[in-house]
Amino acid sequence: SQRYYTGIPIMASNMDGVGTWDMALALAKNNMFTCLVKEEDPAFFWDWLNNNPYKSDLVQHMAVSTGVTDIDEQRIEKTLNLNKSLEYVCIDVANGYSEGFLDFVKRFREKYPKLTIIAGNVVTPDITEELLLRGADIVKVGIGPGSVCTTRVKTGIGYPQLSAVIECADAAHGLSGHIIADGGCSSPGDVVKAFAAGADFVMLGGMMAGTDQGGGEVKDGHVEFYGNSTTKAQEDFGGVQNHRTSEGRIVRLPYKGDVNNAITDILGGLRSGCTYVGAGELKHLSKCATFVQTKNGATHNTVYK
Ligand code: 5GP
Repeated sequence: SQRYYTGIPIMASNMDGVGTWDMALALAKNNMFTCLVKEEDPAFFWDWLNNNPYKSDLVQHMAVSTGVTDIDEQRIEKTLNLNKSLEYVCIDVANGYSEGFLDFVKRFREKYPKLTIIAGNVVTPDITEELLLRGADIVKVGIGPGSVCTTRVKTGIGYPQLSAVIECADAAHGLSGHIIADGGCSSPGDVVKAFAAGADFVMLGGMMAGTDQGGGEVKDGHVEFYGNSTTKAQEDFGGVQNHRTSEGRIVRLPYKGDVNNAITDILGGLRSGCTYVGAGELKHLSKCATFVQTKNGATHNTVYK
């Protein structure tokens, strides 16, 4: 797209309870990014954006999301045609390994040469390069690591997220492209590690859910949070098809209050992480950090003697 991004490259995921308008507003005020949920009504969206005093901040820190079905395509085209100021679009499918998806990205690039295109999800370097060559600017990386994802259990498919980020970042950077580490961060330290592994952006679901801005009813101090492919999330779109299984689950998260609390915690960890390894700027983190392989099965709770 030839555009530059200036801001804190942490993104709210396009999930129910995360990629909401309230989240976009709160994050934009903090120079952070939101991928909005897919099912935005183009006219309502226009109304909200154009009557918003923070419109110019929002368009710099927000992507509208789409799938690749004909209905998705019609809706996103309507949204983009109504809202010419939009700069980012996120083309999001669970499995980016299909010719149809690659073609969609290529057609989208041809139609919208100036839009910054986010596309995913994938987990390997060759397809990362292919997506960039077809016109994506930022490739979304992660299959299996999400906090409410059951793909590994239900299908046996997944790729260790840290390895995926290291390998895909390397491939993308060779073509002057970028990647998003999407899924699997459950603490500020994980966000630091994702950047240290070479991610240009880090996308968060569960860490931003359960907040006021994510919405959802607070019951007994908890908020329900569910995956995009759960039956619950798909209900609005005709349910999960009979021949498919839901690859997401529903969890109850402790209510976290204002998302600004979570942001303070994440950014505090990130600043401190940079200080530990001597990274003066976030983009230096991957050069300053070193990963050490621990014994098989070791976790962060393992005590070494
Ligand atoms: P988290 O930050 O919660 O660990 O992961 C968020 C990511 O999980 C999302 O951005 C998305 O890529 C992925 N995700 C969201 N919902 C589902 C789902 O229902 N199934 C699967 N397999 N992944 C999901």
